[in-house]
Amino acid sequence: MVNRYRLSEEFARLAAINSPPLHEHAIARYLVGRLETLGAEVLFDNAAEATGGEVGNLVARFAGQIKSAEPLLFSVHMDTVEPGGQVRPVLRDGVFFSAGDTVLGADDKAGVAELIEALEVLREQQVPHGPLEVVITIAEEIGLVGAKHLDYTLLKSKRGYALDTEGIGWMVLQAPGANHLQIDIEGVASHAGMAPELGLSAIHTAALAISRMRLGRIDHETTANIGRIEGGVARNIVPQSVKVVGEARSHDADKLQEQGISIEVLDPRTLVPLDKQTIIDSVKKTGKLVIMSEEPKTGSAAGEISAVITEEAFDYLDAPPVVIGSRNWITPAFEMEEHFFPQPEWIIDAIHQKIMPLEGHHSIMDFSYEKTIKLNIEGV
Ligand SMILES: [Zn+2]
Repeated sequence: MVNRYRLSEEFARLAAINSPPLHEHAIARYLVGRLETLGAEVLFDNAAEATGGEVGNLVARFAGQIKSAEPLLFSVHMDTVEPGGQVRPVLRDGVFFSAGDTVLGADDKAGVAELIEALEVLREQQVPHGPLEVVITIAEEIGLVGAKHLDYTLLKSKRGYALDTEGIGWMVLQAPGANHLQIDIEGVASHAGMAPELGLSAIHTAALAISRMRLGRIDHETTANIGRIEGGVARNIVPQSVKVVGEARSHDADKLQEQGISIEVLDPRTLVPLDKQTIIDSVKKTGKLVIMSEEPKTGSAAGEISAVITEEAFDYLDAPPVVIGSRNWITPAFEMEEHFFPQPEWIIDAIHQKIMPLEGHHSIMDFSYEKTIKLNIEGV
């Protein structure tokens, strides 16, 4: 069915067209011609104005023969990461590589080529189908910028597939939520040779902060990264300001959301004074309280908060507050951290076991009274 030669030629042609984010004019022109030849009506939305890019998102429509069928959408993106420039795709043993001085840009040109080949096959073999909508976005690689500005009024489809992932024969149904971090650090500028003691280096402060962050894979569903640092003006000036940009991703809050549970997260900064009213107001809304702290549970501030809230907001609680703390143990070496410090799964397990059963949830931790007694006997 699929013409492998045609597919590989298509990919090579696409890859050879330079298309960094917001500079997609050349690739867009090629795609318009290609899709029109395949019988599409092609137009662009207004994303170019909003993003400052050369072109907007491309929307192509194929009427199809089965007019009553539900329209179906396929989406890919036309930009690639850099360094692009003159990409020379090299086919070696059936696998495409770049010549070595640029990216290959298979993300997402492979998706574009697959889609075009599928459309070729539909036309060539006269496969009857319903209306198809194709969206080829711009500037995906710099934060889904095109997709964020897509004019959705141009679309009718309720369902769609994005051809933009690794691997063959599988689908990604959801992606983790990402929290973007931007930390601006302000120091005091000074001449580094004449008066370094009058300065306060923002770069040094940033380095200290970053060295204390947990980065990389935090657990099986949480990752964190610092991706960019900018700052300083000259070799001999104590840098005044630094911008640190990063992200943290996790499926964890989604997991609770999926269960139909929304949580209010409070982060009290001090125990004395404790902002009791905020916690009590929250308990009035939810009727439940989970307190988590990195210190060992016994004799902890978290235990103190539990006692205070039980005393002052007993009538609003529909379950006893749950305290999740570290093990009662001397802080172990970092390899043991996930057994010692409370982990995101502990919270979900504790909610499941002590507040409300979560459908389909399988616990890793045991928060039962019996287990707690057993751990206490063991001194943990
Ligand atoms: Zn991609």
